[in-house]
Amino acid sequence: MAIPTSPSTPVSLTASAGWRLEHSYAQLPALFHASVAPTTVTAPRLVRLNRPLAAELGLDADALAGDEGAALLAGNRLPPGAAPLAQAYAGHQYGHFTTLGDGRAILLGEQITPRGERFDVQLKGAGPTPYSRRGDGRAALGPMLREYVISEAMHAMGIPTTRSLAVASTGDPVWREDELPGAVLTRVAASHLRVGTFEWAAARGDATTLRALVDYTLQRHFPDVPADAQPATALLNAVIERQAALIARWMLVGFVHGVMNTDNMALSGETIDYGPCAFMDAYDPATVFSSIDRQGRYAYGNQPGIAQWNLARFAETLIPLLHAEEERAVAVATEALGVFAQRFQHHWLAGMRRKLGLFTEEPDDRALVEALLAWMQQTKADFTNTFAELEPAMPPADPRHTDAEFVRWHGRWVDRLGRQPQTAAESAQLRRSHNPAFIPRNHLVEDALASAEKGDLNPMEQLLQIVTAPYDYERVARDYRAPAPDGGERYRTFCGT
Ligand code: AMP
Ligand code: MG
Repeated sequence: MAIPTSPSTPVSLTASAGWRLEHSYAQLPALFHASVAPTTVTAPRLVRLNRPLAAELGLDADALAGDEGAALLAGNRLPPGAAPLAQAYAGHQYGHFTTLGDGRAILLGEQITPRGERFDVQLKGAGPTPYSRRGDGRAALGPMLREYVISEAMHAMGIPTTRSLAVASTGDPVWREDELPGAVLTRVAASHLRVGTFEWAAARGDATTLRALVDYTLQRHFPDVPADAQPATALLNAVIERQAALIARWMLVGFVHGVMNTDNMALSGETIDYGPCAFMDAYDPATVFSSIDRQGRYAYGNQPGIAQWNLARFAETLIPLLHAEEERAVAVATEALGVFAQRFQHHWLAGMRRKLGLFTEEPDDRALVEALLAWMQQTKADFTNTFAELEPAMPPADPRHTDAEFVRWHGRWVDRLGRQPQTAAESAQLRRSHNPAFIPRNHLVEDALASAEKGDLNPMEQLLQIVTAPYDYERVARDYRAPAPDGGERYRTFCGT
């Protein structure tokens, strides 16, 4: 009989290394969680550590970078004060209600940072939980690195998102269509409360449980809601506002989430669950990357409508708390949901003005933006580069000189710039801080992950350096700015990660 080289249940470390874990979520009623420890792995090895994030969390990056750190980030050891659990939730997947829960993610606790903030620290791919159903509880290296790269790029663009503290490989294979190297991602989030958490509460809990969840979510994410506000109504309005702002941010950088099921919509307003997501190259509202999204439900242009649909599912869960009379409760929910479109449009147009370098507001601004988008769609222009390369004086070598429609649009834009008091330099500065020069281009991400799977981490490190400085226009890195050689139209991403 082989002697196990690692204990079958993780043991706790005693040295602190900056860990300061609390467990407020665990105080919620029992139906919201199940205690479960990570399952140990054969050969933990750190593939990537996010040192700046470790520092923000108050963690000792050098300690995490060593053998003990790798053991911890792969789930073989628990940090001091950890009380691991899996969260229960439900959700609408592609429109159909189902019960879910963390099937492969384990929350270690909530780290209290030196600034007093509270962040969930979760191991994704840490082994089976009571909610795993038929899944193995594991994750493959490629998709975990993908989440790391894209979430950190989103953060660098200033878009609310969960973060990635580390990826550790496990030394164990995972079986998907092929045998793949296994890995664990350490995800950091304002919380993992989802629309699906409320759907679970509404399906399985009573009014008291639901109210406890409302109060908890308000305390955790919306502490500024006045004490005399109606809690459920206040929460609904606040969540709607955060989602309107978030989806606008996605649309402004061409981000396609890919799997906007209600269990993948965080109440904090952070982008969460990077599965089949990708950035659009050529502008087209019908852009879909996910191989399983055959109907295009989660296409780029559908995202605002889907967010509103998800928020309607959220509002439904709150009906018993919105008003004692159901009819009145439905009226309250309907009114709140009606505001979403308007708030989304507000955030979107404000963001588009910044992308065009506009400080002031004119009634025709929307038409100006739409004319540019129509031109981009017709000519299959690259979304990111069209904005990044906008200049009042078109360089002589720009091929768009011969495109009458673009030249006409450009003239309109230059006239519009001339009607604001700000200088050309101020406008350029505004554009350059809102139009990323660098996004994680799909073909570059794929190349970097393919190399990483073969053991060469250099392409990924280089890509990370570039995409975590998205507004660095001084950097000359032409290969990282070019769209995919074939236009990227056939690019496909896969779920079942
Ligand atoms: P996702 O598409 O990543 O949002 O996952 C949907 C649901 O499937 C969640 O409840 C996950 O926890 C679960 N899940 C995904 N992959 C696995 C896996 N390998 N093992 C167990 N559960 C999984
Ligand atoms: Mg999910």
